[in-house]
Amino acid sequence: MSVQTDDAFIYFYRPDITEAEIEEVVHSLRSGWLTTGPKARTLEAEFADFLGGDVEAVAVNSATAGLHLALEAVGVGAGDEVITTTHTFTATAEAICYLGATPVFVDIDPETVCIDPACVEAAITPRTRAIVPVHFGGLGCDMEALSRFAKRNGLAVVEDAAHAFPTKLDGRLVGALDSEASVFSFYANKTLAAGEGGMLVTRNPEIARRARLMRLHGIDRDAFNRFSATKPSWRYDILAVGYKYNLPDVAAALALVQLRRAWELLEKRRAVAERYDRAFADLPLVRPPQPEANGLHSWHLYNVRLATEAAVDRDRFIELMSEAGIGCSVHYIPLHRHTYWSDKYSLTPEMFPHSDSVFRSCVSLPLYSSMTDSQVERVIVTVRKLLLKA
Ligand SMILES: *Cc1c(COP(=O)(O)O)cnc(C)c1O
Repeated sequence: MSVQTDDAFIYFYRPDITEAEIEEVVHSLRSGWLTTGPKARTLEAEFADFLGGDVEAVAVNSATAGLHLALEAVGVGAGDEVITTTHTFTATAEAICYLGATPVFVDIDPETVCIDPACVEAAITPRTRAIVPVHFGGLGCDMEALSRFAKRNGLAVVEDAAHAFPTKLDGRLVGALDSEASVFSFYANKTLAAGEGGMLVTRNPEIARRARLMRLHGIDRDAFNRFSATKPSWRYDILAVGYKYNLPDVAAALALVQLRRAWELLEKRRAVAERYDRAFADLPLVRPPQPEANGLHSWHLYNVRLATEAAVDRDRFIELMSEAGIGCSVHYIPLHRHTYWSDKYSLTPEMFPHSDSVFRSCVSLPLYSSMTDSQVERVIVTVRKLLLKA
């Protein structure tokens, strides 16, 4: 555990790495096997078990890669349209463009900050092929409405689950829901942090088979199979023009221990979120939405929206927090506010009133399992002081 003094800068995010993670990585380093191998395979098996079995887990080197592979496997290609939201990271839309398809952007539900199913329905055309919902901050989207609508219209659903580990809807974990695939991120600041990495999860064996093929150059079997089998073989065959998206064992080792600690890490994040909720109840801000009954929030982000009565505006608030030694972030600068996306698809803020309004007032506060009590207390005291100042 990293040691920090109480008056040190409180970073927006810090990973929670114990001796167990270090030992597992060292074990990989000493084993002589650095790239995709036994650790990645164990990670896939344990990840699928975590989600309740009945799914296949395909380890990849990023969620961006996983989204690309999932969309490719469901057959998205040139000329297709894929509906998603601008209230996300650029990777969500990028993966659609990699395949020559056109992202069609819709607004969010202002309560949940997740894609609005009614807007999705309004955006469908004969060319629509898939929907990519984003479980914003760790709160599940309205998957029931999206799945129902997708089924009726023959569309694939590929969940951007980068924030959703572990998230539940109606008692079921994201990854085990009714969709073609869910893609998780193991990026450095995600709830399961391996530096880089991700997991594509699907209940469809054809999608899993295609993703496994395409994640490593379209080769019919991976290097670990070729060189570690009881009868090693130099033979392999190329079946497609694939990609280089496999997860190295060094990262898989780290991810494996983080996966085994998932509930412990969530409890710690939830305790921080609950302290924030209690401490901010009387402040001029909107707290993050709570999950429905039988739902579970992963607490990847604690994203609040400052009310107009707050003593300072959002930009000034972040400056003052930084001066007080506390890092904050904004989720997200929506895609319609970025040069490429707005120019290419003629997007304006007026087209996404809810996403844009969240953007203008929102700020994400530090929230991670390795925060100390006194760090949480310092964030609370500082936020209260800044927002209530006369
Ligand atoms: C982090 C993130 C991604 C990309 O994840 P990588 O593993 O870094 O590729 C995609 N979508 C969302 C919403 C994210 O937050």
